[in-house]
Amino acid sequence: MPEKIDSEELRERLAVINKKLKEPSKKVAKELQKLQEEHLPKLEKYEKDLEILGDRNSYSKTDHDATFMRMKEDHMKNGQLKPAYNPQISTENQFITHATIHQTPGDTTTLKSHLDSFEKAYNKQSKEIVADAGYGSEENYEMLEKKGVDAYVKYNYFHMEQKKKTKNNPFLAQNLFYNAGQDFYVCPMGQRMENVGQGKRISSNGHLSQVTYYQAKNCEGCPLRAQCHKATGNRRIEVNHRLNFLKQQAREKLMNEKGLEHRSKRPIEAEAAFGQLKSNNKFNRFTLTGLEKVELEFLLMAIGHNLRKMVAKSMQSGLKSSLGYKPYNSRPVLYVPRENSNQRPLITTLEFQNQKIAA
Ligand code: SF4
Repeated sequence: MPEKIDSEELRERLAVINKKLKEPSKKVAKELQKLQEEHLPKLEKYEKDLEILGDRNSYSKTDHDATFMRMKEDHMKNGQLKPAYNPQISTENQFITHATIHQTPGDTTTLKSHLDSFEKAYNKQSKEIVADAGYGSEENYEMLEKKGVDAYVKYNYFHMEQKKKTKNNPFLAQNLFYNAGQDFYVCPMGQRMENVGQGKRISSNGHLSQVTYYQAKNCEGCPLRAQCHKATGNRRIEVNHRLNFLKQQAREKLMNEKGLEHRSKRPIEAEAAFGQLKSNNKFNRFTLTGLEKVELEFLLMAIGHNLRKMVAKSMQSGLKSSLGYKPYNSRPVLYVPRENSNQRPLITTLEFQNQKIAA
């Protein structure tokens, strides 16, 4: 196994060798020159690249803080990756109450830092949180439980599993009978799928999940084989019992009366705010570069959105009050400072009951 070496150490070693070898052979001199002029600059460049990358797996040469992401607007229809940022917003009554900018493409990993930042800005957390399936993960469900918020967060396949086609498919792992007492599954052919081991999964945020593997003893010659699985050998399934339990809890909440109400409101809440920004105000790309400036640009757009909303609602309520209705009493949050800033939000008068999150 070759020894790992950084540029500083390579430079030091080269200096020592050069000092010791006063008259090196032609071959050695050529190798030393190659190390000095080719390998050392390359190693320095790679170290610099890794430093810019941080936890990411790409960065833009024109804006080092931007990460390559797949965009919804794909005019070339080739799934081209573009340098981008991932903005997250919380809304209440269609006002943007908090906004953060992230450098990772997935939404799942952004929830914790978004909520931490919200808590830091307002010294409290919302009582209820509504978010879509992009945020439903074991890590996030546990984090929300720890924070003590009433969470209405979907998970992948939440809608899919409500469909008849999914519910009636006996081959899907989630539809197999599970004997919790003796810890085994029963396959559609009636064969026991025994626990054959445990595994670990680590998320990009470092969250550790435990999974259990169950395997059928003999799938050879089974008449249901073609419908059941395509793998060679006996069927093996991977189950995360903790996640299944958390999903069950989430499902019950999402299906109750309050959950249904929140779910029906989410598209006209957070998504509507994004719709206003992107479609109505044509804010489809950042004009500034660099995380700090992009964050400021987005916050300015959020302030503009809140002001427009406030004016629209006030005008509406003014009209209504002249007709005998109660005037609208809106007190939106207009400025949310950076996560590590000591500045306080300009106006923080909303009593946060719930926040809808979107990206
Ligand atoms: S292929 Fe194997 S796991 Fe699937 S039904 Fe047949 S015996 Fe059961």
